[in-house]
Amino acid sequence: MLEKFNLEGKVAIVTGASTGLGQGMAIGLAEAGANVVGVDYVEMPETQEKVEGLGKKFHGIVANLLTIDPVQDIVDQTVATFGKVDILINNAGIIRREDAINFTEKDWDDVMNINIKTVFFLSQAVAKQFIKQETGGKIINIASMLSYQGGIRVPSYTSSKSGVMGLTRLLANEWAKHNINVNAIAPGYMATNNTAPLRADEGRSEEILGRIPAGRWGTPADVAGPAVFLASSAADYVNGYTLAVDGGWLAR
Ligand code: NAP
Repeated sequence: MLEKFNLEGKVAIVTGASTGLGQGMAIGLAEAGANVVGVDYVEMPETQEKVEGLGKKFHGIVANLLTIDPVQDIVDQTVATFGKVDILINNAGIIRREDAINFTEKDWDDVMNINIKTVFFLSQAVAKQFIKQETGGKIINIASMLSYQGGIRVPSYTSSKSGVMGLTRLLANEWAKHNINVNAIAPGYMATNNTAPLRADEGRSEEILGRIPAGRWGTPADVAGPAVFLASSAADYVNGYTLAVDGGWLAR
């Protein structure tokens, strides 16, 4: 059975791989055997070192995913470097906090552009490559607790992450016939840059921790196992599902 989880010889693109959950998943995939293409706004020396330390290959692409301009080049560079692509993790994402009444068009557009528009067009470009290769493939989108809940002071984030869950289902429906599995992971409250302001606010932090049955913030390593599962042939008959990795937050 464990062979089904083995990613030896697979090639995975992970966006937002410099830090946080993206770095955790890139390392997890490499631990399971995959070579990794990391995409980020900045260079990714730490992720590269960790992936290569596991004896796997790493190719970094510095690209700004606020627009879809880099999308085709990401696929082209991956194929030029490794000859193919097997796995895409759409992880790069941002959040802007402000009362809905004062929320600006820029904070709306920036978040929607990277969190949902680029997710769609990068998935489309990678799916075209999967179809060309006739190999099928795995796409894993990163959703959020705010795919299920409204949240507060994050209108574009909630809209984008609610969209990610719906888009995951739609793409799964259209592409299952090509042996492409599209699923999502919805992380709970994880200790990364994204949640630094929440953790710095003692009141909010206590409120959040009080609702997590596991009694702790999640870590990048916590999403690595679920990512390996969804990227592997152990998940060949899992289509369009969003898996919460939340220490029980949604179960409350
Ligand atoms: P993070 O530490 O801020 O990491 C986000 C990654 O995306 C960073 O590597 C970042 O690069 C990259 N990125 C940001 N803007 C970019 C751009 N314009 N172009 C290319 N890359 C860009 O946050 P995280 O918590 O690991 O978040 C990863 C994903 O999980 C996001 O989609 C987030 O919404 C989601 N998520 C997080 C939590 C949580 O509790 N942390 C919960 C639910 C969902 P830089 O380092 O250069 O900024």
